[in-house]
Amino acid sequence: MTVSISETKTPSEPSYVFQASVSGLGAQVVGGKGIHIDVEKGGKMYKNIIDGVSGAAVGALGWKDDEVLEIINDAAKKSTYSYAPLMSNKGSEELSKFYIDNSPKGVFASALWLTSGSESNENALRIIRQYYLERGLPDKVKIISRDNSYHGFTMGAQSVSWNPRVDDYKPYLFDQVNVALKMPSAYTYRLKKDSETEEQYSQRLLDTLEKKIIDNGPETVAAVLVETLPGSSLGTTPPPKGYLKGIRHLCTKYDIIFYLDEVMCGTGRCNPNGKLNCWENFLDASEGPDIQTVGKTLGSGFVTIAGVLVGPKIKDVFVNGSNYIFGGNTYSSHEFNCYVALGVQKKIAREHLTANIFEMGNLLAEKLRKQLLTEENIAGDVRGVGGFQSVELVKNRDTKEAFDVKLGVSTRLKTLCFENGLSVMGMPANPDGTCGDRAIFAPAFIITEQDVDEMVKIFVKCVNSLSTALK
Ligand code: PLP
Repeated sequence: MTVSISETKTPSEPSYVFQASVSGLGAQVVGGKGIHIDVEKGGKMYKNIIDGVSGAAVGALGWKDDEVLEIINDAAKKSTYSYAPLMSNKGSEELSKFYIDNSPKGVFASALWLTSGSESNENALRIIRQYYLERGLPDKVKIISRDNSYHGFTMGAQSVSWNPRVDDYKPYLFDQVNVALKMPSAYTYRLKKDSETEEQYSQRLLDTLEKKIIDNGPETVAAVLVETLPGSSLGTTPPPKGYLKGIRHLCTKYDIIFYLDEVMCGTGRCNPNGKLNCWENFLDASEGPDIQTVGKTLGSGFVTIAGVLVGPKIKDVFVNGSNYIFGGNTYSSHEFNCYVALGVQKKIAREHLTANIFEMGNLLAEKLRKQLLTEENIAGDVRGVGGFQSVELVKNRDTKEAFDVKLGVSTRLKTLCFENGLSVMGMPANPDGTCGDRAIFAPAFIITEQDVDEMVKIFVKCVNSLSTALK
């Protein structure tokens, strides 16, 4: 499919939608099929733009899939509304069973379905708090999460997110001395010393974490929260060897909840062979998390659904304790959303689409590496796993010096790519230069090799042209 750009017959109206009217690309998506979208921007119609990031790592099946219309129709026919804190429903039961059965045996025992990743992390934090209260351990309140992390927009989720963009909200966040604690990010590209092996780097990070637990008193630490493959905050940086296993070990040793956020990297985006959880790339079945959040590709953008999965360790404490979970969202475990997500997941499984995105994502990275890192340009690193890949942009590849955030390099690249027919996510550098600008790829699982070639062609051309402009 070729991109076509034409004038629209009538000039587009100004946007009335808050975010679009003040930020973003100033564009409106007006249609789409497969991995392509049609977008109107500034009086021009851009047809067949390749959506290289499926919205925001969301649309596993692309846009406007005929079978999904049937799934939606069927879900509408058999769904009704039930208030989840009072009553369950068949749709949410079936989706929970699907996720639990398709994860390693015994890791998850229950699920709570919500409408966004932020809300899911908010609920996970509440569940963790109540879990320790049930056990008569009210002082276990501290959540240790990482530098350069992002877990959502709600205030609880932001409190455990450490990145420059949440600093403005500090007055509204948890106490970041006594409740939310920070540990270093696992950022191999910049923070592993040349003299260290990956395992030694992991050990250094784990020693820092263990010291933090001991210094604070393990009796005050509730959970260690990690995004398995950090996406928007760090640019799809795979955990160094042994790192996640080490965190699992420390959590068990000190009676702390091992909490993974797989909202962006999970539900098949990074796995070969139909597996759902990104951590299955790095951990054995017996080392799975105690609690995990998921979202994005779960409903593939057709419905607003995300969720929290809890392991037997947590569930049993509630079942054998008060048998009561405080709090209820009006739309939690919404039957229609659950049925659509289940239909989408069954289609992904039946058509072996996780195997496809794993292969195509790795191919994309390989081609980008070959064409970008062997030439002189602003690409510093290409990294990721399967369908979740990033390019970090630097002023100097040898020193890894990041661009000044004021130059807006990622925004310029994102805009340039769009003008040339490719949508990518652009994330800005940290103001203190500790992380460079990133372009993030998370295409739909249905991507073909021809799409990969087209994406690489456009992206490489845009990187080269921006490199020349920045000289
Ligand atoms: N957690 C991670 C790792 C995310 O990347 C995001 C969103 O990008 C969220 C949580 C929040 O999800 P949502 O935007 O659906 O609230």
